[in-house]
Amino acid sequence: MIKDIEILVIGAGPAGLCAALAASSLGAKVLLCERDEHPGGQLVKQTHKFFGSEKQHAGTRGFQIGDMLLDSVHNDPNIELWTDSTVLGIYPDGIITCEHNGRHCKIRPQRTVLATGAAEKFLAFPGNDLPGIYGAGAVQTLMNVGGVKPAERVLMVGAGNIGLIVSYQLKQAGVDVAAVIEATPRIGGYLVHASKIRRAGIPIKTCHTILEAYGTDRLEGARIAQIDANWQPIPGTEENIKCDVICLAVGLTPLSELCWQAGCKMAYIRELSGHVPYVDENLETTVPGLYCAGDVDGIEEASAAMVEGRLAGYCAAGSLGYKTAEAAEKAAEAREELAALRSGPMGEKIRAGQQKVAAMGGVK
Ligand SMILES: Cc1cc2nc3c(=O)[nH]c(=O)nc-3n(C[C@H](O)[C@H](O)[C@H](O)COP(=O)(O)OP(=O)(O)OC[C@H]3O[C@@H](n4cnc5c(N)ncnc54)[C@H](O)[C@@H]3O)c2cc1C
Repeated sequence: MIKDIEILVIGAGPAGLCAALAASSLGAKVLLCERDEHPGGQLVKQTHKFFGSEKQHAGTRGFQIGDMLLDSVHNDPNIELWTDSTVLGIYPDGIITCEHNGRHCKIRPQRTVLATGAAEKFLAFPGNDLPGIYGAGAVQTLMNVGGVKPAERVLMVGAGNIGLIVSYQLKQAGVDVAAVIEATPRIGGYLVHASKIRRAGIPIKTCHTILEAYGTDRLEGARIAQIDANWQPIPGTEENIKCDVICLAVGLTPLSELCWQAGCKMAYIRELSGHVPYVDENLETTVPGLYCAGDVDGIEEASAAMVEGRLAGYCAAGSLGYKTAEAAEKAAEAREELAALRSGPMGEKIRAGQQKVAAMGGVK
């Protein structure tokens, strides 16, 4: 049996939840598919208060933003939410396959919004297959979702916002954080997070890398060293750090496999953290009727993901003839909101990525 639906949204993180709510607010019928049993995406594990403007719920803890959006979805008669439902394939005849409650099913949407988010990057170094080496997302899931203390002593690799925030959360959970090491000469995360880490007595070592992880049956420690301008270890600066977990917070990359499979035109844009689909100003890809929103079209923040979700949702519903004037007006407002979010110094990287996409004939 094939399930017919007006708009399919894939992924119920901040982008997907907002896309579903926006499309439904104009009258469209939406099916929202989420592979996890808990909708909310990355928000589920974010216990810290978010930055941004009031419009993107700044000052509210990440998981509470997720709960608010999810409540609205639950109370919306136009939205059907499927959890434990992984979208597996997008086919040229418009059929999308999904594993739903352990069963394989087919969906035939008129429009689709892809909001699958991102995957964590990993690092290559000797010993990186020892038990005890985690991505920062896994450590956060253990601590903040499962209530499990993940380690006694951690070495954090990466001083972006994720590395800094997770280090602080580890400290709050009673874990000793030996150090945060960062290969570049400057801390990538917000100063406010770095200051909290330093006040907690955790050293942040810039221009440092991991040489190897060691241990017999499990991780026992890491060997680190300072690096020069060519990223080569400086002899004599090696240091052994005893730890039972190494936490890698070295960035995210868009989870864009379904875009490749659908035949979207793609480009590698370093500033957007990986391969991203070309999208137009409505966030529609080169495959007509297939829209993208959130980290899948370039790594940013939940604030931008929510606004992109709304933009894609309004455009998808508007293209089906739902309240077209209102859809166009709301889409224009969302574009302005995105431009404002990306206007400061923290938006420099994303603006550089957008320029590259524009030079290739797309818009982000
Ligand atoms: C430690 C940390 C701290 C952060 N702090 C902040 C902050 O302070 N402020 C801020 O604005 N942002 C912050 N962010 C970033 C923010 O969480 C992300 O940018 C945002 O969650 C991206 O939203 P998204 O909806 O695109 O993706 P995600 O939140 O990753 O959601 C994607 C969803 O899609 C689902 N999915 C994937 N593939 C499939 C499939 N095939 N079928 C069905 N479902 C699928 C996933 O299970 C997931 O639920 C932080 C991130 C981290 C990791």
